Amino acid sequence: MTAMTAVLFRNGLVLTMDDAHTVLPGADVLVVDERVAEVGVGLTAPPGAVEIDATGGIVMPGMIDTHRHLWQTAMRGYGADWTLTQYFVWYYLESGRHFRPEDIYAGNVLGALEALDAGVTTTVDWSHGLQTPQHADAAADALESVPGRFVLAYGNIQQGPWEWATSPEFRDFVSRRVGGNDLLGFQMAFDVTGDPAFPERAAFEVARDLGVPVTTHAGVWGATNDDGIRLMHEHGFMTPSTVYVHAATLTHDSYQRIAATGGSVSVSTESEQSAGQGYPPTWQLRDHGIPVSLSMDTSVWWSGDLFSAMRATLGADRSREHLQAHDRAETVTHVHLRAEQVVDWATRGGSRALGLDSVVGSLQPGRKADVVLLKNDDSPVMFPILNPYGHVAFQAQRGDVHTVLVNGRIVKRDHKLVGADLAKARRDVERTVEHLIATMGPEAWARGMNPDIPATKVLDNPYTYTEWTNA
Ligand SMILES: [Zn+2]
Repeated sequence: MTAMTAVLFRNGLVLTMDDAHTVLPGADVLVVDERVAEVGVGLTAPPGAVEIDATGGIVMPGMIDTHRHLWQTAMRGYGADWTLTQYFVWYYLESGRHFRPEDIYAGNVLGALEALDAGVTTTVDWSHGLQTPQHADAAADALESVPGRFVLAYGNIQQGPWEWATSPEFRDFVSRRVGGNDLLGFQMAFDVTGDPAFPERAAFEVARDLGVPVTTHAGVWGATNDDGIRLMHEHGFMTPSTVYVHAATLTHDSYQRIAATGGSVSVSTESEQSAGQGYPPTWQLRDHGIPVSLSMDTSVWWSGDLFSAMRATLGADRSREHLQAHDRAETVTHVHLRAEQVVDWATRGGSRALGLDSVVGSLQPGRKADVVLLKNDDSPVMFPILNPYGHVAFQAQRGDVHTVLVNGRIVKRDHKLVGADLAKARRDVERTVEHLIATMGPEAWARGMNPDIPATKVLDNPYTYTEWTNA
């Protein structure tokens, strides 16, 4: 029998994210072994407990990202000026196939560490670069090497899903790698093109046969649309565990099909705003009563932290609400979307979408202890904390993530990852970058990062005749 381990967060502002959204000032959170044991004021620490002073900080559940292409983290920031067009050409048509298993591994490790560092304790790795079983093993190896909670969403953009999902190699991977590890869940990740022949049916049948949820980029302008949703629905493949990523350009009819079948939408606001999938659909999802979770999509463009996701989502929803009102010559006096709601989406939204709501997503006795302490005594931004949800969504950032627990284990403490070999992660990623540059050639590499800028014509200005410089 192993000795009990206990961690006590002392005297923090605790956002439990329970059903009542109970907020407890000056409270403690006691973790024993893998679980939250108690939440309350003045708890007694068991002998040998690690005490963490949460004074001046916020204790909250670990955040949950329901859609990240972790393998792309090896190219962090490369696509900052991309649209979806450049992204598709780069990964799908030209360079994505150059990734070797070790490149998938390198990106996954770096992205997984990035998530933990930012207080994201559960990440769905939307892993659509798994060209061979070796690539898939590399992805799983990487996720198992980092002490976070992950869901491997298996995909392969170099083949149709009806090909890879029905292959003996895929079945073999599932039997070897899925189900033995509480910290590693599994989904199947593929998109539905809307082809009337519905070739994706074979992949859905495999998912149903295996009892595995499907995650799919839906409502992506120019790529996936209402036809895909209708085909899924007509063939009975829309289920409560289905996660629709983006769902940004769909009609009322498609949203009704999603709502009626109990699925949820993963909103990636920074992605939708910048890449062009469509306007972040939170107002539509609200109108249709569709559950929402948040995601960051990929570090090839954006960050991997959910503070950015919460902030961007509030901004996009409110921006649209104001613009629409102004078009009607009206003023919005009360916004619909609240900071409290996006904090819920970043925690409970994710746990519900992944079928993990009785496991993580809230700080309640019996839940697995995925806990984040936001505290930064050196930052003028950490006081006063008057509106705790507003503070998390608009004030805090990844540098304020002081301590992170996953499954009761301390993975970050005093602002530093615990036991992470960042030097090795960096060397691995450097090798991937060298490999890609060598394979593509330096010119193609530079061109890929710097798409042409369309010309801007400065408008004629009737006031310029005054020539103020000559006055
Ligand atoms: Zn995506």
